[in-house]
Amino acid sequence: MEYRGRSGGRKLIVAIRVSLPLPLHQGFDYECDSAPPVGVRVRVPFGRRILTGVVIEAPAVAPLPGALRRVLAVIDERPLLTPDQLTLLRFAADYYHHPLGEVLFAALPGGLKRGRQPAAAPQAYRLTAAGRALPEEAFARARRKGAVWQAIKAAGVLTASEIKALGRGAPPALRALLTAGHAECCEAPPVSMVPPTPPVRLRPEQAAACAAVHAAAGVFAPFLLFGVTGSGKTEVYLELAAEARATGGQVLVLVPEIGLTPQLVRRFQARFGDTVGVLHSGCTDAERVRVWSAAAAGRLGVLVGTRSAVFAPMQRLALIIVDEEHDASFKQQEGFRYHARDLAVLRAQRGGLPIVLGSATPSLESYRHACEGRYRLLSLPTRGPDRTLPAVRFVDLARTPARDGLSGPLVEALRTRLGRGEQSLLFLNRRGYAPVLFCPECRWHAPCDRCDARLTVHASRARLRCHHCGHERPLPAACPRCGHARLLRVGEGTERVEQALRAALPAARVARIDRDTVGNRIALDEWLRKVHDREVDILVGTQMLAKGHDFPHLTLVGVVQADQGLHGRDFRADEQLFAQIVQVAGRAGRGVRMGEVLIQTYHPEHPIWAPLARFDYAAFADVALQERRATGFPPYAYCALLRAEAKQADLPARFLEAAKELGRDHPEIVLGSVIPAVLARRAGYFRAQLLVSSERRGILQAWLRSWVPALGEIPGSTAVRWSIDVDPYTLF
Ligand code: ADP
Ligand code: ZN
Ligand code: ZN
Repeated sequence: MEYRGRSGGRKLIVAIRVSLPLPLHQGFDYECDSAPPVGVRVRVPFGRRILTGVVIEAPAVAPLPGALRRVLAVIDERPLLTPDQLTLLRFAADYYHHPLGEVLFAALPGGLKRGRQPAAAPQAYRLTAAGRALPEEAFARARRKGAVWQAIKAAGVLTASEIKALGRGAPPALRALLTAGHAECCEAPPVSMVPPTPPVRLRPEQAAACAAVHAAAGVFAPFLLFGVTGSGKTEVYLELAAEARATGGQVLVLVPEIGLTPQLVRRFQARFGDTVGVLHSGCTDAERVRVWSAAAAGRLGVLVGTRSAVFAPMQRLALIIVDEEHDASFKQQEGFRYHARDLAVLRAQRGGLPIVLGSATPSLESYRHACEGRYRLLSLPTRGPDRTLPAVRFVDLARTPARDGLSGPLVEALRTRLGRGEQSLLFLNRRGYAPVLFCPECRWHAPCDRCDARLTVHASRARLRCHHCGHERPLPAACPRCGHARLLRVGEGTERVEQALRAALPAARVARIDRDTVGNRIALDEWLRKVHDREVDILVGTQMLAKGHDFPHLTLVGVVQADQGLHGRDFRADEQLFAQIVQVAGRAGRGVRMGEVLIQTYHPEHPIWAPLARFDYAAFADVALQERRATGFPPYAYCALLRAEAKQADLPARFLEAAKELGRDHPEIVLGSVIPAVLARRAGYFRAQLLVSSERRGILQAWLRSWVPALGEIPGSTAVRWSIDVDPYTLF
């Protein structure tokens, strides 16, 4: 925009446009007596509040004196968001039809949102001229001090944490050197790392995959790395990252929330040392600011992070890797509903760099791109010469019933493993003891008062808990409706299976791993160590166990209840079921011993099982893609879902009907019917939805651009909480 600063008296006054973290689509103009560049944070008055905002246009046409409110403070000297980042974020706001201010602030770590300063480079130390001139004998009677002096002299510069690593006496010794003027502070140098651990020798297909990506350095090139579990995808990532690092490039590695395991991080750290930064939902605010700032300043070589790391600033970004690219956790399911994988592809395109999407069970979107040549397909079809995929067997629950989730054949298989000193894993994606508490006398089911859902029995804590809204209450001893004393606990969760296992195999050491038993990453790490040290015989757990873990002594995986999701109402139900079972089955037989997978189901004839038993994703995907094409779902259509919820039962549907009326007729837009959400009431809110789709992305986008802004004008819309979800992951 043209700069027309105006001298108001002696002072320069310009107008700048600021984006604020508010659910409003427009920016706000302020006057400022300096001209802060785009991407800088400012403090401004808004209504009666003071907010932190980001300058998005500056400087603009000078205002009349007094016409605009004044910026209170300019926080940054240099832009916190680079032009590249801003472009990506603007695109994202536009594409997902979400207010720019909220998008910008979603990209910033918490501390920076509230106006804190980015973290400075870590403190480092070097010797002064006087320090360098000292002879070794000077430390004859001060051994510790001498050791620190030696270490700094040898390295040139040491950071505070490196000094600490020298031993407990090192920091005081350093202070003595500083006081004596023999050492001084300096800024830590940016890192330039050479891979410290010797890499494995890649198999030919791994090497070929690396060569293909390497050849694309410096240009936008999307790859789909399609490899069965344990085929060595992570080794490929490490090698590619090493190549990018060798020329000074930075690498962004996106992983799913539960894929970010200590094991994965350790493998990157073993290869890239201190230059690895990690960002995930469990990081403290200070950690996030530190990692974010280090990435921006080029002090980080490799950033491994979950979803929101896609927004991290990296000026020398040379490669993006998205592991388990099909994973649902890449899609933010509330607020600013972006898909991190899709934005990563866009970021690679804008930045002109290769991107590798890896998976054993790619999303049908990515798989279609690969089939049609838009992504290059790199295949790792085997686990290598000496390790095979596990054998898959089905247990027909209709013929061999299970008790507490355990069928006879499953118990036998577990007993065999126990006898051989091998480990087993039982997978069940449901926490708690039982999903239903039922009165056989009056047919009462314990309901959640706030949701259309039943309460789950958590037996050891004697509670009933809603897994949708978190509501909890004590487990009743008798039926609250008729007083009957023998309530039935129907179905099974991990807690029940754990108990049944302890009863059936008393000699087995059983560990249950789910959100109720493992509160945080450190606890998970400790459990995994126990598994590795063979202090555990049988693991029972939810999808927390499904990803990223490499258990060499694990030879049996049991899927306790495979039918969950078999009759799912969502268009992605099959895809998710297939991916989940392949993923968990892939934990078996990663050592030298052959693995076995036992799948318990009431429907052994279901067509999904035959390709799954062969780990034949391509066969599954071909059928699934045909179905999607026939039914007009992604990837053959582009969708947006308008969701609405309100405390009053009829408001959401009324709002959506009005929204539908408002939608201009367009031959290439399909407007669905207004329907209740699958969970029609959650946490006290009634919920409904309306699906819009088109075979062409551009047409849907253009149509949404006129439709979405008008939704706020619908009478009564303020009493409804509504949101638009572009490319919804599920239609729930
Ligand atoms: P994925 O990421 O596809 O599940 P990983 O990269 O974790 O596979 O590999 C599985 C196991 O095989 C790991 O223990 C890994 O170190 C090992 N591995 C992978 N590639 C090789 C190789 N070329 N030579 C030796 N071991 C390998
Ligand atoms: Zn009753
Ligand atoms: Zn509830």
